[in-house]
Amino acid sequence: MLNKIDHVGIAVKSVDQVIAFYRDTFGLEPEFDEIVEEQRVRAVGFRLGESKIEFLEATDETSPIARYISKKGEGMHHIAYGVDNIDAVLSAMKNNGARLIDEEARIGAEGKLIAFVHPKSMNGMLVELSQDAPE
Ligand code: ZN
Repeated sequence: MLNKIDHVGIAVKSVDQVIAFYRDTFGLEPEFDEIVEEQRVRAVGFRLGESKIEFLEATDETSPIARYISKKGEGMHHIAYGVDNIDAVLSAMKNNGARLIDEEARIGAEGKLIAFVHPKSMNGMLVELSQDAPE
């Protein structure tokens, strides 16, 4: 059901600063760099083996990332579990009483199907379920 840690999401003030630091320090180039309109974020991801690290910058002050940073500052925002069948995972979680932020999968960065699960149901951690886009 859950097949890997797909990525860890980190809320930041400036993804450009992150890109420069990761390029200069580690020789890494972003695997993706895109605006996710629905969430009002710019998402930049670097591949680290089979996982990725994703940096999120708010594109306006109503973004959930802007609210997160004003409350808690920069830092770890969510962990994403890779799944093969997001609908099956969502219904298993629902059947077990988990509090879902997204009842249905939606489209996230890289065209993936994603859904968020409330930290109250996940030991205090905001969890994203992430299914690869069909080839
Ligand atoms: Zn994510």
